[in-house]
Amino acid sequence: FGLLRKRDPEIARILVDELDRVRGGIQLIASENFTSPAVMAALGSTLTNKYAEGYPGRRYYGGCEVVDRAEELAIERARELFGAEHANVQPHSGASANLAAYAALLQPGDTMLAMALPHGGHLTHGSKVNFSGRWFDVVSYGVRRDTELIDYDEVRDLALRHQPKLIVCGATAYPRLIDYSAFRGIADEVGAWLLADVAHPIGLMAGGAIPSAVPYADVVTFTTHKALRGPRGGAILCTEELSGRIDRAVFPFVQGGPLMHVVAAKAVAFGEAMRPEFAGYARQVIVNARALTEALAVRGMRAVSGGTDTHLALIDLRGAGVPGAEAERRCAAAGITLNRNVIPYDPEPAAVTSGIRVGTPCVTTQGMGPQDLKEVGALVARAVLDPACAGEVRARVAALLAIHQPYLSEF
Ligand code: PLP
Repeated sequence: FGLLRKRDPEIARILVDELDRVRGGIQLIASENFTSPAVMAALGSTLTNKYAEGYPGRRYYGGCEVVDRAEELAIERARELFGAEHANVQPHSGASANLAAYAALLQPGDTMLAMALPHGGHLTHGSKVNFSGRWFDVVSYGVRRDTELIDYDEVRDLALRHQPKLIVCGATAYPRLIDYSAFRGIADEVGAWLLADVAHPIGLMAGGAIPSAVPYADVVTFTTHKALRGPRGGAILCTEELSGRIDRAVFPFVQGGPLMHVVAAKAVAFGEAMRPEFAGYARQVIVNARALTEALAVRGMRAVSGGTDTHLALIDLRGAGVPGAEAERRCAAAGITLNRNVIPYDPEPAAVTSGIRVGTPCVTTQGMGPQDLKEVGALVARAVLDPACAGEVRARVAALLAIHQPYLSEF
């Protein structure tokens, strides 16, 4: 870092400012985490220099014998950690993983059935502003208005009516467990492939805190940087039968050379997730999310679907009379980072929203427990309901962070 400061003080300043930002606030963004210094070390390594188009032992560049070992380890660890027949660790991101998986299974114009964005699905699940919505004939399912849970009867009806070639399950803002076995049954009934996009809950699955999608789905896509606590990136798990199609779809169809420093960092993260401590972390993330959700609920901020089984909750702010965008701003002013989020059947547009999304991967990595999260919930409620108290909330945030600082000793 000393060298960077000398060579490029502007960028060095930005790195320090970002560290200060993270240390100066509570991070409740459900899709973020704090990677370990070991993951960071792999990311900042000479492996960033190496071109390695292809796969271990089958590269289109010379000199890959060393980086091959990193990718082989990442693949072996992913297969062992998730009990998967095949793993591809090259996708640059979750969106790239989905692009490759769709490319492996579909032709342009084919029908796919996936969760609607306003009900919790991801952009890559068929949004019109995304390649998925433009290149495929997308049919969307959602959650029921009364329970705010996935309506499996609706999924089955839509599948029978539209005969999709691919069914996608998984979401970006769904706080409950997904019944992968029910999706498998529906996919089998209509002869569709089943893809589980578990970008969000994969870390909880790795720690054994929630049931895994791997035994049910033909293809599982995920990101490595959320609850899993690895580097930014994506990965794909699949059956042996689909391994060739998936590998060819990632390279050469969608991507060129893999980011070998990121592949090595993924191997580090998988290794960390195999340790017994990670199971404890994954369980704690959920306990903390429940404590946070309950603390918000008693202050009139209802959790969509009535609670959470995972690392995240979607909070309906209509009772509080504060739009999501305004709540996001008020929390930021009080030192709490979270994001506005549409809730199912939201009367407000996406730029405003009636909800916020909160998640506990970061605060759990910092060592906070349920008592802390009860206080965090009270602080979020106070910041949202009474913006005049931002200064007081900020002081309590600072007190909590004095005990639970990320990256305190490592940097
Ligand atoms: N799929 C789901 C369900 C996600 O939640 C996300 C990201 O939030 C992605 C895919 C895309 O991941 P990335 O942002 O790495 O492209």
